[in-house]
Amino acid sequence: MRTDIVELVRLEDYRPSDFLIDRVELDVRLHPTATRVTATLSLRPNPAGRSDVPLVLDGDELNLKTVALDERVLEAGEFEASPQSLVISQPPQQPFRLTIETEINPTANTKLMGLYRSGGNYCTQCEAEGFRRITYFLDRPDVLAVYTTRIEAEREEAPVLLGNGNLVESGAIEGTGRHYAVWHDPFPKPSYLFALVGGRLGRVAKPFTTMTGRQVEIAVYVEPGKEHRADYALDALGRSMIWDEKVFGREYDLDVFNIVAVSDFNMGAMENKGLNIFNDKYVLASPETATDTDYANIEAIIAHEYFHNWSGNRVTCRDWFQLCLKEGLTVFRDQEFSSDERSRPVHRIAEVKTLRARQFLEDSSPLAHPVRPTQYREINNFYTATVYEKGAEIVRMLKTVIGDEDFRRGMDLYFERCDGTAATVEDFLKAFADVTGRDLSHFSRWYAQSGTPRVSVHGHYDETAKTYRLDFKQQTPPTPGQPTKEPMVIPVALGLVSQNGQPMDADCERVNARGVFILDKAEDSITFTGVSSRPVPSVFRGFSAPVKVSLDLSSEELLVLLRHDTDSFNRWQAAQTVAMRTLVSLSTSVAVRDEEMNSLASAFRSFMDTDALSDPAFAALVLTLPSEADIAQEIGKDVDPDAIHRARKEMRRHIGRACFEHLMDFYRSLAETEAYSPDAASAGRRALRNAALDLLTAADQEAGEKLASEQFETASNMTDRLASLGVLMTIPGMVRENAIASFEQRYRNEPLVLDKWFTLQAAIPEDTTLDRVKRLMEHPAFSINNPNRVRSLIGSFAMLNQVQFNRKDGAGYALLASIVLRADELNPQLASRLLTAFSTWTMMESTRRSHARRALQSIAQKPNLSRDVGDIVNRSLEESAAS
Ligand SMILES: [Zn+2]
Repeated sequence: MRTDIVELVRLEDYRPSDFLIDRVELDVRLHPTATRVTATLSLRPNPAGRSDVPLVLDGDELNLKTVALDERVLEAGEFEASPQSLVISQPPQQPFRLTIETEINPTANTKLMGLYRSGGNYCTQCEAEGFRRITYFLDRPDVLAVYTTRIEAEREEAPVLLGNGNLVESGAIEGTGRHYAVWHDPFPKPSYLFALVGGRLGRVAKPFTTMTGRQVEIAVYVEPGKEHRADYALDALGRSMIWDEKVFGREYDLDVFNIVAVSDFNMGAMENKGLNIFNDKYVLASPETATDTDYANIEAIIAHEYFHNWSGNRVTCRDWFQLCLKEGLTVFRDQEFSSDERSRPVHRIAEVKTLRARQFLEDSSPLAHPVRPTQYREINNFYTATVYEKGAEIVRMLKTVIGDEDFRRGMDLYFERCDGTAATVEDFLKAFADVTGRDLSHFSRWYAQSGTPRVSVHGHYDETAKTYRLDFKQQTPPTPGQPTKEPMVIPVALGLVSQNGQPMDADCERVNARGVFILDKAEDSITFTGVSSRPVPSVFRGFSAPVKVSLDLSSEELLVLLRHDTDSFNRWQAAQTVAMRTLVSLSTSVAVRDEEMNSLASAFRSFMDTDALSDPAFAALVLTLPSEADIAQEIGKDVDPDAIHRARKEMRRHIGRACFEHLMDFYRSLAETEAYSPDAASAGRRALRNAALDLLTAADQEAGEKLASEQFETASNMTDRLASLGVLMTIPGMVRENAIASFEQRYRNEPLVLDKWFTLQAAIPEDTTLDRVKRLMEHPAFSINNPNRVRSLIGSFAMLNQVQFNRKDGAGYALLASIVLRADELNPQLASRLLTAFSTWTMMESTRRSHARRALQSIAQKPNLSRDVGDIVNRSLEESAAS
């Protein structure tokens, strides 16, 4: 813990390391409380660095035992060591070897960074700055070394020993009960990609043949007895490897690829070279314990971490400001994979929903920052939706702007040119500039300018000239540190639809053959000729840019798009826009005419009559109204979450009643008759059926409760059981409480399932929930040390329960503040993630705003805050002083 104000790290201050490390030999003797690490580093002065400067190695809570230079043990006075650094004031000016012995305590490591224990097993997490908690090092991503790791442990305690790269040697240590394994990774890598695992683990494995015929063994390690729950992850890994060969020409490069699932993990998963370490939530799945969403997430995250082998590992980042270079690109790659494996339009809608819920929210909050930040105090706080999700949108726009073929050529050039190096965003863009001959400097503003651009679109039809003009205006609101903004390069995929729903062939020279117009000025207009009647414009098809769009279309015109547009994304968007208009009016006491509600309901009815069953997953998305958080964001200021909650409830009831027969038909006809399969089509049917149940219950609580109870009792899989329990949660009374108790009884030995149980209860929008959450914190299955438990109970309360977290009496904010302070003493990363739930506070009405400010100030005033929490709380408060 540090109490002082930590200095800003600035992109403009980057300079190459003064020393390089070519080889690292590690000898790690595992022990629960006293693990000995001997690191032998082959160092040399960096020709690109400064000469005659001290060697300063990073550390974090380290305990130095000895240090030797070229085999000679150094004496006190020849070096300076603290838990935070090791300084050799006069290092040699030619290559030398430094041997450092440290002792660390993995059991006491509750931060889950560096080497720690989870469920009795040893594991590591080094990104971003965890390696310095294992040994003193030049812990920065532009220092690439070849690692050889010897791991030694009691065979009884840790029969499995894994490291990066390939296994080169293993054996017993005579007469000791100990054994060892030596792993060698031939690919130079930064320290954040280092990993080791030691423990008692079960394994599933299979052979994989790469595109050039190389044999690779791929394996997933899990808690013994849960091997069968790793089959889906192993299958997803094989499919990811084939896809990356086919779509990006990327082949795997080691003899083995290992994935290890651990139950205590700060993030989703980590792409360590050849040895990915996963939060077990993203590995373990069975029909009885995992939902369709869990299966889809496992597939996506397995793919994501695997794809990092090229976008992140073979080509890594020069410094942490370039984080989006690996993350944005790899999110884009995993999204494309999921779209190819599942339904592309359905997946695109899901991506955009996440982007809006998390990234647009961040962009409009005091925590807004560019995709490539220019400064940070704590890099762990920049693993954000902006870096990941908006970073992926930039790559997608680049592809839209230059076209599929040039995009692939540019990617090939980037991988070829930057292989084995630590690259920058400039290196990435230069590959595409070079293959296309385009100047991408204006486009690159997406990496530098924060905030969500707003684009307004107005259409003008000229009946006599048969022309149609679209006027575009773009503007980006101010964000912290960026009061004025420049116009962006915005690809607008668009088309025209006739009032009776036919696609219209009209000419416009500004729209390219792929149907894309590039908006790169603050204002611009394009004109279509040969337009025989007034069209309905369908703009930003497929959500072609991460912007907020305002469109002067009537509800009738939007509903034409819902029924007829060839672009599925815009069909969904049209329904959302119509619903949102009404929801905003209802939430802000604007009178709503019955016809307004009825027009959407009748559009839903005709949608259900005609084509809902042709793509049930898509239909489920259409029938789901914008969330309370979406509505709050749309309103943007002086938000009253209670009014929003009432409005959404009223509209769901209205639609449920108006569509009751149809919904009941769907509910009955989509009932599962075959054994559970997690495939996208089956998942889509379950999604639509459960969306119908939700609306039915909104219309008729008694009927809904009966159906949901029945489904809860008889469900053959977790998706249906959990969906029905979710519906029961909305109805206070004994039926609900009994269901909660029976679920707990049934799954009391399944931590990942109990997480879902915590989440549902934390999200109940009733006044008694606050006490329920406090009570659940005393539940034997809850632990403040386990990130999954904390996120499922506390994170869900703060992020999903709009009305109770934002209680008018401030008790929700006070609860979160007290838990953040408690968590901060154990695990600062976890605490600072929870704290970001406050990012909506500036948009609340004044009473809630002052309660939130007080809660944030109570955190800020606490002495000994971690750097993680101190940074978030100060940024959250700074903006309010400015505005
Ligand atoms: Zn990643």
